[in-house]
Amino acid sequence: MIGLLYQFPTWMQRLYRGVTWRHRDTGAAYLTFDDGPIPDITPAILDILAKYGVKATFFVVGDNIQKYPHIYARMLSEGHRVGNHTMHHIKGTKFNLDDYMRDVDECRQIIDEHTSPTLMREGQGGKPLFRPPYGRMKYSQKRATLNRGYEIILWDVLTHDYNPRYTPEKMLRVVKRYTRSGSIINFHDSVKSGARTIEVLPQVIEWLQAEGYKIEVL
Ligand SMILES: [Zn+2]
Repeated sequence: MIGLLYQFPTWMQRLYRGVTWRHRDTGAAYLTFDDGPIPDITPAILDILAKYGVKATFFVVGDNIQKYPHIYARMLSEGHRVGNHTMHHIKGTKFNLDDYMRDVDECRQIIDEHTSPTLMREGQGGKPLFRPPYGRMKYSQKRATLNRGYEIILWDVLTHDYNPRYTPEKMLRVVKRYTRSGSIINFHDSVKSGARTIEVLPQVIEWLQAEGYKIEVL
């Protein structure tokens, strides 16, 4: 039962059919960071990833790209992959289809405007990626997003880094317990999670590497 606290329950996974929770048995683990780019936190995470020579996937908020284009450019120039996390970080269940998709499209436009082809690196091809804020969206929104050609990415390992009750020690325990080959691990580069994420990230990377996981972009 405790798994329900860290992973979406099976009935919800069925509701979200067509959505990627975990990659197949690839021998890799995938680090993902939602909600940036923002000053201080995102650069500190990029520093850690650079130190370990590890690439990650950032689900970016369009509004933050507009505010901090230099941090966004740094993500790309260092070989990380980005995905759409809507323009204003909106919760699907609170929006009708048209308004939701307008926000998705606006984020895509900002991503395109700020992504020069020279910044594209290997591993950034393939389908564009989308992650719904809060992991929540209506069925109609899911269909419309898939119809736009997106791969919708959720996660199978939730670190709860946004929750102040989750100490770095507890987050590491969650990662150790639930990570399997192909796991998609959810972190945030946000003000709320910042310090704890930055503290636990090196320990997570070292553990994954010691366990023999390749760490790759989605
Ligand atoms: Zn988010």
